[in-house]
Amino acid sequence: MSGLDLVAPEQRGLFIGGTWREAEGGAQFDVLDPADATVITAVADASVNDAVDALDAAVAAQHDWARTPPRQRGEILRGAFELINERADDFAELMSLEMGKPVAEARGEVTYGNEFFRWFSEEAARIHGRWMNNPMGGSRLLTIRKPVGPCFFVTPWNFPLAMGTRKIGPAIAAGCTMVVKPAELTPLTMLALTAVLTEAGLPAGVLNVVPTTRAGEMSKALMADDRLRKVSFTGSTPVGRLLVKQSADQLQRVSMELGGNAPFIVFDDADLDAAVEGAMIAKMRNMGEACTAANRFLVHESVADEFGAKLADRMSGLKVGRGQEAGIDVGPLIEEKAVETVGQLVTDAVQDGAKLLAGGSAPDGPGFFYSPTVLLGVHPESRINTEEIFGPVAPITTFASEEEAVERANATEYGLASYVYTKDLNRTIRMAESLEYGMVGVNTGLLSNPAAPFGGVKASGFGREGGFEGIEEYLETTYVGISAD
Ligand code: NAD
Repeated sequence: MSGLDLVAPEQRGLFIGGTWREAEGGAQFDVLDPADATVITAVADASVNDAVDALDAAVAAQHDWARTPPRQRGEILRGAFELINERADDFAELMSLEMGKPVAEARGEVTYGNEFFRWFSEEAARIHGRWMNNPMGGSRLLTIRKPVGPCFFVTPWNFPLAMGTRKIGPAIAAGCTMVVKPAELTPLTMLALTAVLTEAGLPAGVLNVVPTTRAGEMSKALMADDRLRKVSFTGSTPVGRLLVKQSADQLQRVSMELGGNAPFIVFDDADLDAAVEGAMIAKMRNMGEACTAANRFLVHESVADEFGAKLADRMSGLKVGRGQEAGIDVGPLIEEKAVETVGQLVTDAVQDGAKLLAGGSAPDGPGFFYSPTVLLGVHPESRINTEEIFGPVAPITTFASEEEAVERANATEYGLASYVYTKDLNRTIRMAESLEYGMVGVNTGLLSNPAAPFGGVKASGFGREGGFEGIEEYLETTYVGISAD
């Protein structure tokens, strides 16, 4: 078996009520290889009617699924974890093919994404309520935890496996059924994941998957339905805002994992080599196409030139090319539009006075490549500092004091990931407390960890995925008061 073989031809369809099937009218759409813009294969293109069928199946399965022993739900997740581990290289190849990231990096995502299945297989058995005496006497106060009910999940293209397992894992553990709409640019990994969960024994109707090119119509129809109880979305802030508005009519519970504008702050007391190492990870993981990607490098003015030179040296040494070739560090961006957007942000920054230390151009096609780029002396108000870059570009600005660093770091509507490099413990504590972010990395460029609560504040959304908090998103609390003497 290899890559694409993980998704048999009949599995390039919709998965509804435990059966693979075609979309209404046999509609399909193409999945492209971003390294050369050729068609990899076609998958079914679900209509709104298909999505309603999927919700019907989720609703029908909810009652029995909620009553399945937690250990049984955990064992299914654990079984899927083992199967994915066995096929990790194939998953990595498939993901690299449809999304572009180098195979070695995709392999890292398989480990990371699959760990959500293991973590939540363990959490399933730990769901618990409490028993309390009424402080005033005369009764007992009990709480029961129940699954929220049928969920709708919408995932982005940048981490085709992990963005799915972060939602599917806790939903299965909690006893929720679901309809999943994967990103139209990368549906194959989700279909492969669906096949694995079925093989691991997931009952029909618990997971329903509907790739589509009509995301807006689909979400509107499903969210207007009062049987849907929860929406979890990972993607851009504008779409997140729209979904929160849409959730108002039926008052669905919502989790929103949205965009970021992560500051990467380097103080003058930092170990500069370690900071450059961390910067390479925080910036270049996934070619910069990550919500946690370092978007603004804020470097103390006394070390900015040295940091910039070292970073430019490392970035220039990276090998750009097709993700499935050996020795490639940086794959293509997801689509042509992304290359244009990144190029425009770099051009604007240079016009605003930034100095190009490395890269700054898109190599000739085919494929959607952009060279690893470092900019020094970027104006704080340049668009590249206020918008999500989602590409391999590191813009550096300088600061003179800790107060200025904090003020500038917080001067954005976003609040997902932030990074700080310093050796000073007191400063570490001050920074962790004053950065308005859901996550703060200290002397590390990698925050994502299934055992930790991942999520943002402000326009980066609300809700947490992973950690002990992750399962809470899928549980309701019923309080029972019992009269007793
Ligand atoms: P996007 O918002 O364009 O698309 C995300 C998903 O939403 C896709 O599946 C898309 O089909 C769907 N979608 C689009 N319009 C919709 C609608 N009206 N109703 C329902 N679904 C709709 O984002 P993208 O370009 O795929 O992903 C990149 C964005 O995702 C970036 O902003 C990035 O920061 C963010 N992201 C956030 C996290 C996080 O955990 N916070 C993780 C990864 C990516």
